[in-house]
Amino acid sequence: MLDMILSFIFPNKCPICDNIISYNSLICKSCLGKTKNLNLKREISTIKNKTIYCVAPFKYDGLIRQAILKFKFQGKMSYSAFFAYMMSQTIERYYSDIDFVTFVPISNNRKIKRKFDQSEILSEKISKIISTPLKRTLEKMIDN
Ligand SMILES: [Zn+2]
Repeated sequence: MLDMILSFIFPNKCPICDNIISYNSLICKSCLGKTKNLNLKREISTIKNKTIYCVAPFKYDGLIRQAILKFKFQGKMSYSAFFAYMMSQTIERYYSDIDFVTFVPISNNRKIKRKFDQSEILSEKISKIISTPLKRTLEKMIDN
């Protein structure tokens, strides 16, 4: 009920086309077909004979890239629900035994300018979706 009331004050918007969508939707029907979850998995490193993988629901290009940039730099916080859901789907596809969720934080200077840390927001939502604790394990030392 509170979500419905809030949706009148802060309407939920599609992260791709920015049109208003229902309060319990993540994306509009029109854009759903344009944003297929690719469930990407790439080997990125090997540490102590263990292979480290990066998984992602999308390639960083086109409509998805534009939506991510709006989320990060134009304060489109509502887009985080869609990205967190899609990231959770990909994580659960490849991993079943996860100890915790963590994130690489942005620097304090950027957090002050941006007013939020997009990685932290996504991690909090993913943690809830996949019912896995969130741990703040990393600290940004260099403002790059
Ligand atoms: Zn849309």
